[in-house]
Amino acid sequence: MTTVVDLRSDTVTKPTPGMREAIATCEVGDDVMGDDPTVQQLETLTAEVLGKEAAIFMPSGSMTNQVAVRIHCKPGDEFLCEGGCHIYNYEQGAFAQLSGVVARTIEGDHGVLQPDQLHGTIRAENEHLVRTRLVCLENTHNRGGGRVQPFAHVAAICEWAHDGGLMTHLDGARLFNAVAATGIAADEWSEPFDTVSVCFSKGLGAPVGSALAGPAEMIKEARRHRKCFGGGMRQVGIIAAGALYAMQNHRERLTEDHANAQILADAVRATEGIQLLTAEVDTNIVFIEIDPSLGTAADLVTMLQNEGVLTLAITPTRVRAVTHLDVDTAAMRRAAEILSRVAESLASGTKPEVGGVVAY
Ligand SMILES: *Cc1c(COP(=O)(O)O)cnc(C)c1O
Repeated sequence: MTTVVDLRSDTVTKPTPGMREAIATCEVGDDVMGDDPTVQQLETLTAEVLGKEAAIFMPSGSMTNQVAVRIHCKPGDEFLCEGGCHIYNYEQGAFAQLSGVVARTIEGDHGVLQPDQLHGTIRAENEHLVRTRLVCLENTHNRGGGRVQPFAHVAAICEWAHDGGLMTHLDGARLFNAVAATGIAADEWSEPFDTVSVCFSKGLGAPVGSALAGPAEMIKEARRHRKCFGGGMRQVGIIAAGALYAMQNHRERLTEDHANAQILADAVRATEGIQLLTAEVDTNIVFIEIDPSLGTAADLVTMLQNEGVLTLAITPTRVRAVTHLDVDTAAMRRAAEILSRVAESLASGTKPEVGGVVAY
């Protein structure tokens, strides 16, 4: 019995021995009182890496995003975002529930917006209308299949936003994947944005946590709202230590995850009945489209699961596989071989007995 290859998400990683050691030995204090040196070290490093004045640690990327919306918008305000983005699709519309803010979505090409698609979207000052206040972008784009935003588009959109009096926020849950894929530094990617959110619990492999970075005044405001949203934590150096270790040790190795994603992408290209959503796989997310003549995405997921490869069906025809720290090249080769075999088996008429994990 070989071990399971878990490609459901890059959130499934377990802390490495070195990370556990860092967690076990870190110094802690009451962070709500500003006393936790490990949190402070993490916040300082994160701000520095992102080229911002300050950063604040929070339990999740949903919270950093929602706190960002809260500091940029008032009730009755609107933000602009791409239609497939995480803030709009996967955070329960928390901007509406918690902040009285509405979103206006614009459909991109696998998560990528053309700058001119935004032109004309800033509403006039008129008592009938919500006020347009903010643009949110996502890099890399999760539902876009891990796509890296074209740098020139990002710069042009942010320039347009600032010229129009809007604020800009980057959901950079996987920003370090964009850095690894392009060689463009994190502070360059972040420069056009007022605030930037990054996750330590995705490809970086920490058990918990995200940070929001930006100007010191805004991060001071964010601290207030974090408390309001229930995210003020006490001896939280215990988890910040994992995130700090990840920032110090796991950023460069993301290129390994990208190389492993290419192994799977090549297997998809070489197998009939399945294909890649986009011609190229940019980072660590592989979206596999299944021809309906073979079966559904859930069928493919179930067949893979029976062979010890875990993935997610994210639409009736689409399966997501994500590479990460806990999947080495040998495991990836095995998963790629199983994928080809399973797709061929479906093509020859085999049907799985039970439904797989469906996440849409
Ligand atoms: C995972 C993710 C988040 C944050 O998710 P949490 O589970 O709340 O930490 C935000 N944006 C994107 C694009 C993500 O993939």
